[in-house]
Amino acid sequence: MLIRQSRLKQFADCPRQWYYEHVLKQAEEKVGSLTVLGSIWHYAMEVYVTLDNDLETALASFTYYWAHPWELGYTIDFWHRRTTHDSLLKRGRNMLIRYDELAPWEGHVIGTEIGFSVPLGSHTLTGHIDKLLEHPGQTTIEVVDYKTAAMVPEKLKYNVQFTSYCYATERPEFWEGIDQPDAFFEYAGWKRRGQWFHARNTKVFNAGYRTELDYKRLLLMADEMERSIEAGIYPIDYSGETCGYCPFVETCGSTEVSDPRLLSIVEG
Ligand code: SF4
Repeated sequence: MLIRQSRLKQFADCPRQWYYEHVLKQAEEKVGSLTVLGSIWHYAMEVYVTLDNDLETALASFTYYWAHPWELGYTIDFWHRRTTHDSLLKRGRNMLIRYDELAPWEGHVIGTEIGFSVPLGSHTLTGHIDKLLEHPGQTTIEVVDYKTAAMVPEKLKYNVQFTSYCYATERPEFWEGIDQPDAFFEYAGWKRRGQWFHARNTKVFNAGYRTELDYKRLLLMADEMERSIEAGIYPIDYSGETCGYCPFVETCGSTEVSDPRLLSIVEG
């Protein structure tokens, strides 16, 4: 099965939401202002890194594309509450300036904006890594993910996104995909650690190391996801923690209640 990292996470959060979006295709393809802000900010960060930490050019790039998002293929369908063009322009620029001031990533940049496609058991795992770093004298690869809007999860140690990224860098196909096949051997045996960079607050959260056990758990999850899909079983999020962010919260359950006695109870 082809598994996109982002969809794996969605399935982990709520299989039912995944079902509504990817099987029933009920999702509206609406893109909000914060999503476009994040995409253009990532683009400006790529400019910043590529030009050897050139803040002025990165700021100019962000300002230009925020005013002309369609030139990068983005359209803002709706504006999130309390966001305006000018407030997000200021926010994006400030995030770049503070990132530059913090200079948290001293060390060697192995690569940025890296797409990957690697085997995971009988599956293929795909995704996109914001940045890979190494530090002199250390034998750890740092996997960095920039977040421009998201809340910080409580248990990053078990975050499946970082597990997926770290796992990908353990595979020879990852390095072959970026034309550095020898790096697979160079980094063999090195530790992998995640770093969640919260751009809005200029904070770095340590997502912890990933080991063989984490990778086994990742494979177990991919296998279980495949079996659920084959069986057509998509449980709801029992904890309800995802529901507050779910686009289907107003309709969830409306097509599944088949027992007329239950329907009469629900409808009063
Ligand atoms: S409302 Fe909750 S249970 Fe229903 S699909 Fe959304 S996240 Fe899942």
